[in-house]
Amino acid sequence: MEFNVIKKEGGARVGEIKIDDFVVKTPAFVPVATKAAIKSLTAFDIEELMIQMLIANTYHLSLRPGAEIIREFGGIQKFSGIRKPFMSDSGGFQAFSLGKGAILGRSKFEYEIEKKPSKEASIAKISEEGVYFRSIYDKSLHLLSPEKSIEIQHDIGANIILALDECNPPSADYDETKEAAERTERWAKRCLAFHKEKKSSQAIYGIIQGGLFRELRERSAKAITSMDFDGFGIGGSFGRNKMYETLGWLQPFLDKEKPVHLLGIGAIEDIIESVSYGIDSFDCVSPTMIGRAGYILITPESGGNRKNKFRIKITNNRFAGDKSAIDENCDCKMCKRYSKSYLNHLFKAKEFSAYAIASYHNLYFMEKLMNDIRDAIENNRFKRFKEKWLG
Ligand SMILES: [Zn+2]
Repeated sequence: MEFNVIKKEGGARVGEIKIDDFVVKTPAFVPVATKAAIKSLTAFDIEELMIQMLIANTYHLSLRPGAEIIREFGGIQKFSGIRKPFMSDSGGFQAFSLGKGAILGRSKFEYEIEKKPSKEASIAKISEEGVYFRSIYDKSLHLLSPEKSIEIQHDIGANIILALDECNPPSADYDETKEAAERTERWAKRCLAFHKEKKSSQAIYGIIQGGLFRELRERSAKAITSMDFDGFGIGGSFGRNKMYETLGWLQPFLDKEKPVHLLGIGAIEDIIESVSYGIDSFDCVSPTMIGRAGYILITPESGGNRKNKFRIKITNNRFAGDKSAIDENCDCKMCKRYSKSYLNHLFKAKEFSAYAIASYHNLYFMEKLMNDIRDAIENNRFKRFKEKWLG
């Protein structure tokens, strides 16, 4: 993998990730293809939308269909028919969170899962070795260790893979967060060692943790960036205002030569703000998830702003007879063809095409947004662009 910064404006930067035969222009939005698919869209839609890269989910794919099936195909691109570069996550976040543990806090993670193999306890238990968890599908017991995560990701064959990290809930206190950040560091070393030993040509990113504590974030950033990763991910959940502050703390510690990915962030204002802190890529389920719930992303020209989160709810009764295009200022094929009234009807009638139309438009919107961001930075207009969007 090769990464070149082409243009900078303040902290924001435009770059290019060259990986295998692909070029990903950054800042880039990376839609989530959890199960090697974007819900309600086909590979043809994805290619038509000019989506640059997708991120698949190791936890789900390793349980279903199983990493070995994908390996037999020669990797996720051949398996899915999607001829685009892929990232895969480590599977850690889902192993930790697909139980009540992550919501209730770390102490509740520490369930004796062997003793309580009930529905209630399909939860993770963390040790130095890795994370033990029960499958959400059949309750079978699995160990996700740093080595196992990398092995599965080698089988899935994404172009960029992520080291296993321990993500703790925002409610975690200093000691819990410190323990998790230090374990993340040790796991990162093991991931990298295993990856090198297997001589994989995939790129690998290390993940920075440290929660809401400046000292821990800085320490994690120093440790992870000192390792021979191809790029870095910033993990953890934080409240919005705390996120910008955290990115500010991290900025001086990030390797200027390597790409930085912000995990799980996809709100419009968060993307625009984070780009000014030098973030190069983002992934989030949000555009398609809100799309399936009837939310249509709109630009400032169509009345989008921070307050309405740049969206309208198309299922609202006021759109029932509205003959105007889904978004009059969007030139995606869905907006050129369909009215608000018709999409409102499709949602109410629970027609499957409603999800496809909304997802298509929202991903088109994201691609256009990222394209406009890159264009603004290249022409020294990013500050003005940010003001126009965020006020
Ligand atoms: Zn559109």
